[in-house]
Amino acid sequence: MSQDVVERIAVFVVDLRQDKPYLGELRDGESVNPSGYFVRNGNRTVYPRANRSLVVQLTTKEGVIGWGETYGLVAPKATAEIINDLLAGFVIGRDPCDRKGLHDELYGLMRVRGYTGGFYLDALAAVDIALWDIAGKLSSLSVAALLGASKMTSIAAYVSGLPENTLNERCALAECWQELGFDSFKFALPVADQGASAELRALRKVLGEDARIACDFHWSLSKTDAVQLAHTMASDRPWFLEAPVATEEIEDLRWVAQHAGEAIAVGEEWRTLYDARARIDREACHIVQPEIGHTGITQFMRIGRYAQEHNLRIMPHATIGSGIFLAASLQASAALRDVEAHEFQHSIFEPFRHFTGELLQCDTGVYRIPNAPGLGVEPSEVMRSHMTPIPA
Ligand code: MG
Repeated sequence: MSQDVVERIAVFVVDLRQDKPYLGELRDGESVNPSGYFVRNGNRTVYPRANRSLVVQLTTKEGVIGWGETYGLVAPKATAEIINDLLAGFVIGRDPCDRKGLHDELYGLMRVRGYTGGFYLDALAAVDIALWDIAGKLSSLSVAALLGASKMTSIAAYVSGLPENTLNERCALAECWQELGFDSFKFALPVADQGASAELRALRKVLGEDARIACDFHWSLSKTDAVQLAHTMASDRPWFLEAPVATEEIEDLRWVAQHAGEAIAVGEEWRTLYDARARIDREACHIVQPEIGHTGITQFMRIGRYAQEHNLRIMPHATIGSGIFLAASLQASAALRDVEAHEFQHSIFEPFRHFTGELLQCDTGVYRIPNAPGLGVEPSEVMRSHMTPIPA
């Protein structure tokens, strides 16, 4: 236990605006509403036209600063208000090294009201990551070392999303990444205009027999359609198939996992080990994909270790952020055994890699894990100019 205590919490919305929306240009029939959101026809999911993230800064009495991050894609001020109005009062004055106890205490605060997911646990994830950053800095250890990692310095990365308008352009983009040394890819069914089978076949043709090519179904299919599509794609050997059915339909997921004949991956929307156990205990998936922007480090490690105990494959998810929660995910992944590959959202990572001062690297198909104390990354001066404080 340290003598230091958390003294201040500041919350920021980070502007990650890009020319092209995530997963590529809007398709016919898709339009941006007055709040800046649009719905993808392929999965009926809301996306912001301008990407954002939510960052928290915890400062201790001794002046140690911890950074955390969570999703700010939609209604980021809702998450900011949860941190400012609710969590901050229970974190200030507390020992930052008591991070697991504090996590469980904060989780339990809202159990009676049913808040076991969503914005509440996103807010908790950001605070949790910042506490781990401080704990690492106080002990002069990287978070990976604090979690007991061996000397792992890199993790294989797979290129996720090919945000071009046509299949030919998406194939050309994948080839560019392959030339840089990447051998693993994932495409998204909602924007595969000619269908998943045609997309996989075309990518297989240009990338070759050795490339690993996965498809994200984005929870958009019925169980029978998912299995039928998996069988149609089988001859082009998908690496794995992700999120085939609605996340609430766990029995349908189990049925798909048993009948698809391909590896089924899920987990990016989970917040806690409870979400993971509900699927893993029913043998409803083969690969788990924890997303640290939702789980924080504490729950990410619980999910990852539970998956390991059940001999499942682990491929952490990495969605849209400034690089802070990506660094947390790499640190935590290094402490798990045999992480097969980590998602690489190149369309977000590359334009904003300078946000964390060039400390994060993903070249030639692998991530380099930062080894400075804590997360090993800090917001750069450029990033600070994109951070808008959200006052309490
Ligand atoms: Mg996905």
